[in-house]
Amino acid sequence: MKNFAHLLIYSLIPVIVFAQSNTVNIDFEKYFEDKTMRVDYLHGGNSQSESFKIFAIKHDGAWGGRVKVMNDPYNLGLYAFDVVDVASGKVLYTQGFCSVFGEWQTTLEATRIEKDFEESIRFPWPKNAVKIVMRKRDSTNTFQTLWTETINPAMYANASHTGSLAKVRYFLSNGNPKEKIDIVVLADGYTAADSSDFSNDVERFIEAFFSVEPFKSRKSDFNVAAVYSTSPVSGIRLQESNYYPANVLGCTYFTFETERYVLTEREWTVRDYASLAPYDFLVILLNSTKYGGGGIYNLYITASAKTSTAAYVMVHEMGHHMAGLADEYYTSDVAYQVTVPKYEPWEFNITALLNPQSLKWKNMVEPNTPIPTSWQKEQYEQTGKIDINGEPYYAKVGAFEGAGYLSKGMYRPEVDCIMFSHSLKFCRVCHQGLSRVMDMYVAK
Ligand SMILES: [Zn+2]
Repeated sequence: MKNFAHLLIYSLIPVIVFAQSNTVNIDFEKYFEDKTMRVDYLHGGNSQSESFKIFAIKHDGAWGGRVKVMNDPYNLGLYAFDVVDVASGKVLYTQGFCSVFGEWQTTLEATRIEKDFEESIRFPWPKNAVKIVMRKRDSTNTFQTLWTETINPAMYANASHTGSLAKVRYFLSNGNPKEKIDIVVLADGYTAADSSDFSNDVERFIEAFFSVEPFKSRKSDFNVAAVYSTSPVSGIRLQESNYYPANVLGCTYFTFETERYVLTEREWTVRDYASLAPYDFLVILLNSTKYGGGGIYNLYITASAKTSTAAYVMVHEMGHHMAGLADEYYTSDVAYQVTVPKYEPWEFNITALLNPQSLKWKNMVEPNTPIPTSWQKEQYEQTGKIDINGEPYYAKVGAFEGAGYLSKGMYRPEVDCIMFSHSLKFCRVCHQGLSRVMDMYVAK
């Protein structure tokens, strides 16, 4: 999906040097209970400032997340939070993420008004007092602390809030959620009478997702559960048709005035339904025939379930959601003025190539592949198609100019990838990025 917020992020918030530090193992049982703490807060502000206000602290069901690799060794995301043990000062858990506020902050609207957004962080329930440290990248690429808050878990020893909001059905069960990658699929715009239709769409998602590597050969690493979150009437809001059903999760097209971009501002409602099953990643299927979707790193994806390109949208958006992969395309109706970044972007799969000697995926480049790597760029821009037979470095890893919405000054790892075109294949760099993230969740 076109995610124009990224455009402005590149120009306003130059991002980090790619980092591959070591993983940190923490004795899970010493510091955590086997349940999830969810902190709901309002993330608000305008284009220049932001603030955080706690709304609620909840027991969010069983913990199904990482239990061995507790830090985020790849430094992904525009934001990150740490859970720090107050007594020892030890960082117990870290997670990078992106957010709706973070994207909204780069829109023109944010230069005019202030706005609050629902947001949540989730982590295993600490046994003792912890300090939450919220960080964000600054203009020099460095994470800076924006907010800290100390939480005494004894004050929030409440029962799980989730109750029985909706029916849950497992479509794929491969074992203990703490040793698996857990995907929860939610329904938006499906009525109770549409439930078998939703089941079919969940099957479509599973078929699409597990037909593509690196997911295909690792299907046994995943659990997939569906939550039958029901809406009072069918369909998703379509403002061009003046159709405004009260869909349960509040997903809408025209997010940030981009027609095909579908997000919801009701994150807490999404999470209330999602927490009926342990989850690492969230998929919201839209009961809609209109092309669209969205995917935010460590938040959720949305995807229209009833279009001819649904499979592509679902897998592409999972690339954003699971590993923070950037869009590699640059020609799709992008009409924004963007400047070439002065800093290396944080995503695994695009580079500003500021120093070709330290290309972050250089160990995957063959010795006879030039950097930057030539390709039939003009021809592609005229036809919109990759000429497989005519590309001298097709299926080779290099640095191909044109990526991340920028025609010049930004490079992608291969000529083609599902983050570049509708091809149903990740390039090797995206493949590796996704594998690295998956490995963190299944580490024993
Ligand atoms: Zn790629």
